[in-house]
Amino acid sequence: MNLAILGPQGSGKGTQAQRLADNYQLLRLETGKILREMAESDNPDAEEIKKTMLDGKLVSDNTLQKIIEERIESNSGSGIIFDGTPRNLIQYELIKNILKKRGENLDKVIYLEIPEETTIERLSTRRTCERCNRIYNLHTNPPPTPEKCECGGNLRQRSDDTPEAIAKRLNEYRQATVPVLISAKAEGKLVEINGTKSINEVYDEITKMLNLN
Ligand code: AMP
Repeated sequence: MNLAILGPQGSGKGTQAQRLADNYQLLRLETGKILREMAESDNPDAEEIKKTMLDGKLVSDNTLQKIIEERIESNSGSGIIFDGTPRNLIQYELIKNILKKRGENLDKVIYLEIPEETTIERLSTRRTCERCNRIYNLHTNPPPTPEKCECGGNLRQRSDDTPEAIAKRLNEYRQATVPVLISAKAEGKLVEINGTKSINEVYDEITKMLNLN
């Protein structure tokens, strides 16, 4: 089973992708995390990637293609959940083609829908563990203390979760990603989910719509 999960920032796609990956043995291909790691590494493209992300823009399709091909090549054949990709139509065609070459399909595109106010609300209270990458929300999914994860790691706010970068990402999302949803819908692959409910309710709805129960 190969899935993609999309949604505006703060829609909970990372949390749901991780659960699906754990419960159905999928490789979670989280492009945002891979890019954040590249931005902090000694990769020759690090500075450019960092700047693009802090600006709330999308990194180039070429960079993305390299990342995806590399990760998929080393995957031993379990299914994949694309978390944060495709963000535009070029990327949508790209992942469908990469899978096709492996004799596979992109089965479904899960879309978690939330209003803009929810994005802004959730991102300003989002915290991530530096050690294990677990994601919390100070209000709806609180950590043991505001500074510490369950694993003991320090919690931090993402550097691109500033109001300006959030607004730009939302704009980018509306322009580039909405056409992907339209295309996936026309192909009968789109699974639309109300992302404003609790984490468990959203998860149950996804598994129900995908007939995974
Ligand atoms: P995310 O963690 O999914 O919110 O992604 C954080 C940032 O990483 C985005 O604002 C983009 O700059 C970059 N990024 C993540 N995934 C992609 C992608 N599929 N295409 C281009 N840029 C991406």
